[in-house]
Amino acid sequence: MLYGYHGKVLKVDLSSRSYELQELPERTLSDFIGGVGLATRLLYEHAPRGCEPLSPGNPLVLAANPLVDTPVTTSAKYAVVAKSPLTGFVGDSISGSHLAIELKRTGVDALLVTGAADDLTCLVIDDGQVRFLSVDHLAGKGTRETEEAVRRQFGQHLRVAAIGPAGENLVRYATVSNDGRHAGRTGNGAVMGAKRLKAIAVAGSKRVGVARPAELEAIVQRLTERSLGPATARYRREGTSANLLLLQGLAALPSHNFRRSTFERAEQISGRQLQQRHLAAVSGCASCAVGCTRLYRTLNGGSAETRGRLEYETLFALGPLLGIDDPNAVIRAAALCDQLGLDTISTGGTIAWAIECFERGLLSRGDTDGLDLRFGDGSALLPAIEKIARREGLGSLLAEGSKRAAAQVGGGSDQWAMQVKGLEMPGYEPRSLKTAALGLAIATRGACHNRSAAYQADVAELVDRFEADESRGLIVAEGEDQEAVLDSLALCKFIRSCFADFYAETADIYNLVTGFDISAEALRRAGERIVNLRKAFNIREGWQREDDTLPPRILADALPSGAARGVGLTEAELDLMVAAYYRARGWTADGLIPEAKLQELGLWELVGPDAPGHRRAESPVAPGNPRTWAVRFRSAV
Ligand code: SF4
Repeated sequence: MLYGYHGKVLKVDLSSRSYELQELPERTLSDFIGGVGLATRLLYEHAPRGCEPLSPGNPLVLAANPLVDTPVTTSAKYAVVAKSPLTGFVGDSISGSHLAIELKRTGVDALLVTGAADDLTCLVIDDGQVRFLSVDHLAGKGTRETEEAVRRQFGQHLRVAAIGPAGENLVRYATVSNDGRHAGRTGNGAVMGAKRLKAIAVAGSKRVGVARPAELEAIVQRLTERSLGPATARYRREGTSANLLLLQGLAALPSHNFRRSTFERAEQISGRQLQQRHLAAVSGCASCAVGCTRLYRTLNGGSAETRGRLEYETLFALGPLLGIDDPNAVIRAAALCDQLGLDTISTGGTIAWAIECFERGLLSRGDTDGLDLRFGDGSALLPAIEKIARREGLGSLLAEGSKRAAAQVGGGSDQWAMQVKGLEMPGYEPRSLKTAALGLAIATRGACHNRSAAYQADVAELVDRFEADESRGLIVAEGEDQEAVLDSLALCKFIRSCFADFYAETADIYNLVTGFDISAEALRRAGERIVNLRKAFNIREGWQREDDTLPPRILADALPSGAARGVGLTEAELDLMVAAYYRARGWTADGLIPEAKLQELGLWELVGPDAPGHRRAESPVAPGNPRTWAVRFRSAV
């Protein structure tokens, strides 16, 4: 008997409107845990090598975790994973709240959707019953409207993951949204849109048991108490917007498309200001006592008051990154992105790129449909966002993301496309946060701060954040392993500092829930396995060493202001850190995974058949090991 898991994946084919339930071996569950890990495992197996991300063959995987629907705090999370239409590599994103619980109660650990529907469709999975319902009347509707309409029409007991117009129109950074939260990055909303899948509605009554509930209760109570302690105090007080002034103080708040790392009007748009003048409501995800979510209201809209949820990253991307200091403009833009189903970081990053093109004369008013794109001017923001989601005029170019848009426009505009592997940069300045710089360069999903949390070492001053050195390789590799475990269990990142001994305590929780008996080291090893599988997926899909880099601006220009004035990051410094990271991972100098590493992690059976072109390679990490085979996959893209 399984605890914590159902041991099943539901495979749905939209093209034939068929489905089947398949067993998940216990070994697969313990090796990949759940959430991002399990979803990546399923993606690897089911995505045809080289598949076009917006083709019916690209599987969309939603995976619950083993702790969801247990008393463990912050565990109501689920992962959405597909091959990303923005990067062409693994696209994993996480969302949370009630949908995660209902997904698990349908009686499966994961849902894998392939094919494409003829009509705009809502997939309903209701306590074991699977229905394919035509929802053409919801075409063009926003995410919340869709969620409400589906529940009204098919049952209020359902929880709904939906796409907005952006997903329907295949904007490459469209989100999947549920319960006011979003699986935001890498464009999985466009994957849903390509499948003509407007919404997935789930509900059920199949609850998993907990193996040792009395012991779990004691440990959960301690964790919940700690989650309400100093580690989350800032977020409980001001929400994540509190990070804006923290990063400003460190000269690590990117503004004006990363030309600067400070924003002169940061105070006007800070978490403190928002809290004092704009706060409308405080809330949180299901299964969480922290409640970091803030809903803010505009002040100058009269009867047209807008309410919008702001996290730090959204505040950064629609505020300082665009030189905008008006909280009302940012709240409106954030609410519009949420409604249309757009990733706010990529939206802000792509518009910032367009502003520079406009200011440098590469885009004219004719190209921008008459919009005057300027840093600091919020008036063009809402029309630009609408155009992106509907792919109208300029929006059609910007819907491709800054990397593809720069390739179309040319004129050297790739120099200020602030992206890695196609994913726009988050709000952490790499030049003044050198560990973060490495984390952003090597992350498998593109410029991502979350998959390694590398910035923590810089912000907590565990290292000299202005200096690039080899010590960062191990820090980032260890950070990635830990975050992979967090994202697979899956617990909220904001309680990561609540553990005195992360692996020992999370292994305890995992074992008490599942009845398994895995050690702290085995759990860490699972994190390492998941990171390596993501990398193996990317290699299979055409990753090259030069993909692990940072935008040219970061590597060319020193910072002009604040405490980091004059600080830069050279290509040689980044290469030094990347090489150290590969060594820490046990990879080759080219960033490839030796066969020995894949064998050690139990991945060779899965990954090996995809490596017809594997070749003998020099391994800098295992000198003397006679079996140092590097896997170079034949690129099919
Ligand atoms: S801390 Fe915030 S993001 Fe995390 S689970 Fe709680 S409300 Fe959700």
